[in-house]
This record gives sequence, structure tokens and C-alpha cells, in this order.
Amino acid sequence: MVKKREGYKIIVPQEYTDRIATGLCPVCSKPQNEWQRSKTWRCCSKECTIEYGKNIFWGWPALRRAAIKRDGKCVKCGRVETITKELMESDIQRYYDMYEIVLLKTFIKYEEKYDDTTWEVQLLDMSKYVVDHIVPISMSGDEWAIENLQTLCQECNKIKTRIDMGNIAKLRLKEKFTDIGQKFLEDVAEADIDKTELKDTFINASQKLLKEVDNAKRDI
Ligand SMILES: [Zn+2]
Ligand SMILES: [Zn+2]
Repeated sequence: MVKKREGYKIIVPQEYTDRIATGLCPVCSKPQNEWQRSKTWRCCSKECTIEYGKNIFWGWPALRRAAIKRDGKCVKCGRVETITKELMESDIQRYYDMYEIVLLKTFIKYEEKYDDTTWEVQLLDMSKYVVDHIVPISMSGDEWAIENLQTLCQECNKIKTRIDMGNIAKLRLKEKFTDIGQKFLEDVAEADIDKTELKDTFINASQKLLKEVDNAKRDI
């Protein structure tokens, strides 16, 4: 069936899930019997807990940012969308780590503009991109796998959306035809047919089938 979006979800990388299942620290693979801290913790150490927190995604906005950070541009045409911002030197690393904004380039330094050294920096403008599901969710693509995500500019997304719409329509049509065909076979099987009626029954059922196919095409 055509699948719908799920909405909110916490995404844990597959290798973490596998390690937890076998009693290892999800981050460094240290077996639980070697842990210095209580086994009720998820990770072997504070450091691993911090690392764990960095690599799980809390819902769509975080996953979206991670995909844009990974790609750094539109993966189809290579377009790089930028925004210029003034950042204090001490904030630049924090921006990079916490907000996951990809720092492209620092290019102008204003000495002593504020208390701190201020840089005019060029950042990747995440708001201008669309993060697209390579295999659409409605075609059973994984909504939450970063491998199924790609960064597109607005233009390339329009093209991709058109292609997706066509494929989804074809899938719906196929599903509908399968249902109609199934119904047709059931009707024929259930019909109380003797030899004289056989021909008429098939003709009637075929006409009904063609009519339903026509209706289905109109619905799409
Ligand atoms: Zn660990
Ligand atoms: Zn593009």
C-alpha cells in the first residue's frame, strides 16, 4: 500500500542498536563486564554518552541538518547556497558543533568590533535546501534512514517531485489494477456458470473490468 509519513521519531544508528543488543557499549564496543559504571547506563563512560548524544537524531529537523551537512551542496547540480553572518571568533566552533551549520569560509576580520574578534563568515544556508527522500516514503522508502536522504536545491527538487509524482501515480495505478483484477477473478469464480451462460458471463465481467479500469485512470 502507499505509505504515509510517520512524523516524530528518535533515530539511533543501526550499529548502535546492534551493539546494545549484544551487551556492548554502543559507541566504543566495550563489553558490559568491563564497564567502570553501572550497567543501567546506556554507554560505558561519560565520554561515550556524549558521543552517543551527538549521533542520535531527535526527529526530522536534526536528521535534515545532518543530511545537508553531509552533502554540503545540491547533490544534483552542485549549487551552493550561502548566507553571510557576523560571528564572534569564540562562537564559530560552537556554531559548527551545536547548530551543525557548515562553515564554508571565513573571509573578513573586523578587529575589536565587539569585545571579541569578529569575523564575517559565509555559512551554508540550510533554509534554501530541500532534503528529499531518494525513494519516496509513499513508495516504501525509509523515512528515517540518512542513506535515503539527499540535499536538493529548489529547482532540482521541482524536477525530482515531478518524477516522484509520476512514479507514485504508476504505483497507485498498479495497485488499483491488481485489486480490480482480483475482484474480476473472484466474480468469475463465484458466478454460477453453465455452458450456455459461460460466454455472456465473461463478456459482462470483462466489460465491468474495463469500466472500472477507466474509472481508476480518471481518479489518478
Ligand atoms: Zn564506550
Ligand atoms: Zn540543484
